[in-house]
Amino acid sequence: MLPIVRVLYSGLASATRSSRGALHTASVVRCKAEAEATDEKSSEATEGEGDGDQVSSGPDPKDRTKNIPVETSMRYLKSAAYKQTYGEDFVWTQYRRNHKGMFAPRKTRKTCIRQGRIATGNPCPICRDEYLVLDYRNTELLEQFISPHSGDVLSYSQTGLCQKTHFRLMVAVQQARDSGFLTYDVPFREYDYNEYYGQNEKQKA
Ligand SMILES: [Zn+2]
Repeated sequence: MLPIVRVLYSGLASATRSSRGALHTASVVRCKAEAEATDEKSSEATEGEGDGDQVSSGPDPKDRTKNIPVETSMRYLKSAAYKQTYGEDFVWTQYRRNHKGMFAPRKTRKTCIRQGRIATGNPCPICRDEYLVLDYRNTELLEQFISPHSGDVLSYSQTGLCQKTHFRLMVAVQQARDSGFLTYDVPFREYDYNEYYGQNEKQKA
């Protein structure tokens, strides 16, 4: 009799976790089991703790309200933890977008972070790692998003950045160029110097 009750109870207890509707029947069975067997009380206590609302301890991994200084981010990019996570790749190389169907939507999502919290299951390469801080001084990070051939900022279709982060990246790159943290090539312009020298000679004469 006792093993049967135990099996029945454990089955119902697991059902309770998935559906609230079975809670009543499970508690009825629990009362019966308590009356019939006193030695089940120890297991009852542990099961009861499992049934209670689970309060997760530790910080929320999706919380993005913490303000991480740029210096920390710059040290992070040189650290062993960064090497272990990304290896020799760029931060966006291993990232894959989630989308339904065969083809990705033309634009990436508007933002990954809403109200100081990650609001998506697949945040973009910069939003997912809170230690990647976009700043004009963090050139090591910015250079990963600049094409070595054209010198332009890579498209969000290639890097997978959300629209908001991509805009912040563009701003940071422009600030870095303005303040001399990043170098860039100015377009080569050919002058016909004969025109200028010709004018000078005419003026002299
Ligand atoms: Zn994002």
